Amino acid sequence: MKMPVVELSECILCGVCEEVSPSVFSLDMGYVNVAELSAYPETEVDEAIKNCPADCITWEES
Ligand code: SF4
Repeated sequence: MKMPVVELSECILCGVCEEVSPSVFSLDMGYVNVAELSAYPETEVDEAIKNCPADCITWEES
C-alpha cells in the first residue's frame, strides 16, 4: 500500500500539510504525525506534497 511519509529532520513545522489534508497530517508536540489509514486521499496528499516548503513529504510503498 502507498502511504505518505514525512522526513522529520527536514520538516520546518509550517503546518501546510495539516491545512491541506487534516485527515492525514497533524502537528503534534513539535512533529508531524501521519494518521494510519487503510486508504489515503491521494489528491489531498499530492497537494500537501506540492505545497510543502521543505519538500519533505513523499509517497512510500509498504
Ligand atoms: S508542509 Fe512540510 S514542512 Fe510543513 S509541516 Fe508539513 S511536512 Fe513539515
